[in-house]
Amino acid sequence: MKNLSDINVIKSVMARHGVTFNKGLGQNFLVDPEVCPAMAEAAGLDENTCAIEVGPGVGVLTAELAKRAGKVLSFEVDDRLLPVLKETLADFDNVEIINQDVMKADLKGIIEEKCAGMDIVVCANLPYYITSPIIMLLLESRLPLKSITVMVQKEAADRLCAEVGSRDGGAVTVAVNYYAESEKLFFVPRDSFLPPPKVNSEVIRLTVRENPPVAVKSEANFFKTVKAAFSQRRKTAENSLSSGTGIKKDVIAKVLADAGLEKTVRAEKLTMEDFARLSDILFE
Ligand code: SAM
Repeated sequence: MKNLSDINVIKSVMARHGVTFNKGLGQNFLVDPEVCPAMAEAAGLDENTCAIEVGPGVGVLTAELAKRAGKVLSFEVDDRLLPVLKETLADFDNVEIINQDVMKADLKGIIEEKCAGMDIVVCANLPYYITSPIIMLLLESRLPLKSITVMVQKEAADRLCAEVGSRDGGAVTVAVNYYAESEKLFFVPRDSFLPPPKVNSEVIRLTVRENPPVAVKSEANFFKTVKAAFSQRRKTAENSLSSGTGIKKDVIAKVLADAGLEKTVRAEKLTMEDFARLSDILFE
């Protein structure tokens, strides 16, 4: 089998199929031979696992997943890569490349059809231009996932894995925390990729929760509250909640007081419980 993290192998297989890097699709391919095996190990795969990948590129991580999982479903939007993948993954009979934009695919239907009875995990080196949308789609779709082990831009890792109620936290931190427990696994410098991107990366793992950490009357209102509270980070929660929801400031002030919170509190200081309490009262 070819060494798919070897720069010369990548260049030659791409040249043979007339494929050039598409920056717009976030095509930075891994060339550090230790990263993909470590990611696949961290994903916790076995014969009964169906691994979902987003963006196989030339198949370097796909091959590591295929060695360890019962089945690999890999979504690749760039159809120029299909003949490349046919060649590079020829040794595996448990990989299916799905030539679809992951954001538009019927993930639930595809998983039900192809991974019935299996444990399902996501493991991918994500295209950075849609990191948060992909993660939120995977979580919000309530797919039967055990975990999501992904490479993301370092700054995205900081935000996704921040503690709720800390300075690094944002709306996406709260949203991710509602669905999963997050942890940083390891740092990956920018020169581990071809071509090297401008930013460093980090591999993170989200372990999907069986139940959310807080009970809310309405999930839609909970997320509406979180989005509004973080809509103007430098302002107080009173101001941003008012402009984000259209509810008058004096009403918000009373709700904050009823929830036992200071009028001057900022969104980044609020806990999951605070957001839950606020959303329950705000939209009563
Ligand atoms: N897994 C490979 C690696 O680690 O070397 C490639 C990762 S590269 C960062 C991201 C991959 O995602 C590219 O192959 C790109 O074509 C693909 N991609 C970009 N947008 C996509 C989308 N919306 N749906 C599916 N694949 C996408």
